[in-house]
Amino acid sequence: MAFELPKLPYDYNALEPYMDAKTMEIHHDKHHAGYTKKQNATLEKNSELFEFDIVEILGDLEKIPGTIRTAVRNNGGGYYHHNIWWEQFTPGTGGEPAGSLGEAINNTFGGFADFKEAFKKAALGVFGSGWAWLVKDSSGILSIIGTQNQDSPATMGLTPLLGIDVWEHSYYLKFQNRRAEYIDNFWNIIDWDVVSKRNA
Ligand code: MN
Repeated sequence: MAFELPKLPYDYNALEPYMDAKTMEIHHDKHHAGYTKKQNATLEKNSELFEFDIVEILGDLEKIPGTIRTAVRNNGGGYYHHNIWWEQFTPGTGGEPAGSLGEAINNTFGGFADFKEAFKKAALGVFGSGWAWLVKDSSGILSIIGTQNQDSPATMGLTPLLGIDVWEHSYYLKFQNRRAEYIDNFWNIIDWDVVSKRNA
């Protein structure tokens, strides 16, 4: 099965003023669509790989032929990460995580404010293009990591719970060089119920 670009679960302007409509449109319809298309075009040459889902592919890049491995790492990562990206936002959300995720965040990072500060530091610390993530390892331990380009937590055996895209295409139209301000706005649209389900 070829990979499909998921439809946006809300309108382009639904996350205003925190994420602007023009950025959303280009980010989904051009960037996410581009990763999806290129991933499919790459796998066409080795169509037996379509039997795997994206986490199975990124989780074991060694099984991908060397000639297409870099393309799959980049485009497959881009495809997967943007699926996670759109799904974690809901208009009118934000706030703080409740339940077991809230507790785990407090226990691991010393509180929600400390978690946000550490996450922001990781996101600011990504040099050039990449992502910062709240991830869970196979024993359920939470941590924050930064990754370059579309390198995936899945390749490191980690489950991404929350990600922030710090490629300039994700914020430059509205925030230009002010990555810190973009990160501060990001918290207003996080649907913690979605993030909590990823931790289940
Ligand atoms: Mn992006």
